[in-house]
Parts: sequence; structure tokens; C-alpha cells
Amino acid sequence: MSTIVRFAPSPTGRIHIGNARAALLNWLFALKTGGQFILRYDDTDTARSTQEFADGIKTDVAWLGITPSRVEWQSKRFGRYDEVAADLRARGFLYPCYETADELDRRRKRQQARGLPPVYDRAALNLTAEEKAAFEAEGRKPHWRFKLAQKAVEWTDLIRGPVHIDTATLSDPILIREDGSYLYTLPSVIDDIDFGITHVIRGEDHVVNTAAQIEISRAISQTVPVYAHYSMLLGADGKGLSKRMGSLSIQSLREGGLECMAIVSLTSLVGTSDNIHPCTDIKELVDGFDLGKLGRAPARFDEAELATLNAKLLHMTAWSAVKDRLDYGNEAFWLAVRGNIEKLADAKFWDDVIHQNLKMNVATEDMAFIAKARELLPVEPWDHTTWKVWTDAIKAASERKGKTLFMPLRHVLTGLDHGPELAALLPLIGRQKALDRLK
Ligand code: GLU
Repeated sequence: MSTIVRFAPSPTGRIHIGNARAALLNWLFALKTGGQFILRYDDTDTARSTQEFADGIKTDVAWLGITPSRVEWQSKRFGRYDEVAADLRARGFLYPCYETADELDRRRKRQQARGLPPVYDRAALNLTAEEKAAFEAEGRKPHWRFKLAQKAVEWTDLIRGPVHIDTATLSDPILIREDGSYLYTLPSVIDDIDFGITHVIRGEDHVVNTAAQIEISRAISQTVPVYAHYSMLLGADGKGLSKRMGSLSIQSLREGGLECMAIVSLTSLVGTSDNIHPCTDIKELVDGFDLGKLGRAPARFDEAELATLNAKLLHMTAWSAVKDRLDYGNEAFWLAVRGNIEKLADAKFWDDVIHQNLKMNVATEDMAFIAKARELLPVEPWDHTTWKVWTDAIKAASERKGKTLFMPLRHVLTGLDHGPELAALLPLIGRQKALDRLK
């Protein structure tokens, strides 16, 4: 059986790190199983969904390295949803309810006060034709609930194992609002069926929905997808990420200069039994991918960990992978500086250090030493051995060694007391600039 999965964001905002995790776990599953990945815009909320957000999500998904085999829009499928809803009504699975939000709220409060679970009491099922007609005459429009079977629904979750939920403990879900618009549930179930979704991989906040969705699926079709619910991503402080949507949007992380593979590595590995480590190639993540490695405990997302991962990733990134994104430097430059940066843009700092016209003040006690070093500067051509040749000569001609020898040279050549290996920097600075700086 060939697999088909979907990533189903609502284009009512940009996607954040939690959505990226949903997208990547589905993408890795598709790659691992040689299946298809569908990008489905859950845009039934036509008032809040925008083309701009949808375009932004497309950009974010592409930047993460995901290539959907198909893109679908729920807003283009209302005809199909209406057809299925009509059929469900005709077969008694959908029933009209006339309670207002206030009435429902009061009823829930009464139940809670009596220590009862706030489950919808199905009062609307007992309405007579006259009572319904009276509500309609008042100008009330019905919303429509799905009549749950009120029995155990069981499935084998690929992450959570066997799950049992008795739908008698749930309210019959509202599928259609008073104004005829659809809530998330019914379109999602219909699409999963129509697009042949074999595996629904999503967050555990949907586990209870799944019980109802399985019943709805069975009312519509013979096939029910396999489900896998991963634990939620929490911040390092143990709180949910939703309040930090903006700063953790893929767009802002990208604009903040993070590497996509740092985000891909982190979101693919967080909450699994594998160590979080930088991967430069998605292949490595696909090879190690197994839904069974995802645990039940909430996964922790730590921005500091992402920053560290980003730096580690750059430290092992080849020049060929970054050269198109830098309008300066060459391979020797990159290999010299990559170990000293946390974000790609930091490389510019070292390019400036190499090329600037530096005038350093030399400490009085170092003046004679620096003058000597200047005299001993080897002739060109220079390569990575030049530094050793030079400092060996300085060592022989002066009393200095170790820090007292290297530090004044580093300081005078770069203006700094830290940085990349001078053996790699010196040939990039070149003889003329080195002579100028040693003056
Ligand atoms: N649009 C839904 C959400 O973002 C999709 C959930 C699902 O994967 O079924 O929560």
C-alpha cells in the first residue's frame, strides 16, 4: 500500500515551530515510506483565511525543504461537503439543534454545579416537528450535530498504542454552524477519505476528536486512516508555545538568520528517543525516522538549543552549501571562519576583519617584538604553512613563546583577542595588509 499523508494548516496566520514539526513528521514519514505528502489548506473559515497567509505558508513549507505532491483548498470543496452533509442528514447521523450559545453555556454550568460532566444532553433529539417549526418561526436557524454511537471506539495509535474512547463520554460534535458554515471536523474527515489519506499524523490535542472522527468516517466510508498522535511541543518553561506564535513563526526564525536544517533537525528529533544533533542532509533524518521513537512525554522546545544547533550546523557546513548565499568570501575564507560563527551573517564580521584598514595601537612593551616580527614576515606565496614558518622564526629570534608570542600578533593582525586560527587567517589577510598592520 502506498502511503498518503497531509499537513493541514489554516491560512489564518503564519506557521510556527509547532506546525513545522507537524509538517516535518509527515514529510519524513512520506519520504521513509515512499509515499505522498499533501498540503491541505484548512480555509473553511473564509473570514479569517487569506491568500497572503496561504502564500506565506507555501514559502515556509518550501524553505523547510518540503515538496508537496499536491495542494488542496477546503474552500473549493464546499459543494462536496454539502453533498455529504445532506446524505448524513438523510440517514439520521446529523440532527438539528436550536440552542443558543447562552443556553448551552447555562446548561453546562448547571451540569458542572451538580458534578456532572458537561456533555450535551441531546435535548434537540426530542424536539417535535411543531417545536422545530416554532423555533424557525422565531427566526432561529439550527446548528447540526453528529449523533455519536455512544460506544467504545478503539484504534491502534502508531505512537500511543491501543486507545479506547467511549463516545458516550463526549458531546455530539457540532459539524455545521447556524449560518451553514463548517467547523473543522467534517471537512477534515471528508478530505481524509476523498484524498485517500492512509495515515493521519498530528498532535495529541486531537486524540479525543479522533474518536468522533472515526465514527464520522465509518458513517461515510469503509476505510478509516491509521492515526498517530505525538505529544505536544512545550517551551523550555513547560508552557505551551501558542502565545509565542509570532516570534516562533518560521518566517521570523528564517528572517532572524537561522538555517533551515537547524529547524528541521530540531523539530524532527525533539521528543524522540534520538539525541538532538545537527543534520546537514534530510537523508540522515529519513534513515533514522520511526514514529515509534516518539514518546508520550511532552517535547520541550528550547530556543537556546536551536541557536546552539544552528552554530554546530554551520561549523560542519561545506562552502558549496553556503556560497550562493554569500556575496563575498571563498572556500578558504569559509573554512577559516565557519567555526567562529553562530549565524551565517556573522561571517561578514570576519570578512571585515580580514579586509579592513586596521590601525592598532601596540603596547609599549610589545613594540620591539612586533617590529622584529614584521622583519621576519615570509615572502609570498603564502599558504596555511606560512604562519608556522613565521612564528617559528619569531620564536627563534625572540625570547617569547606561547601566549606572549601569539597574543600580540593576533591583536595587531585582527584587532581582537579571539577568532579563527591565524594559520588560516594570515593567508587571507595577505602580506601587504599584514605589513601595514604590523607597522
Ligand atoms: N487544521 C487543523 C489544525 O491545524 C488540522 C488538524 C489535523 O491534522 O487534522 O489543527
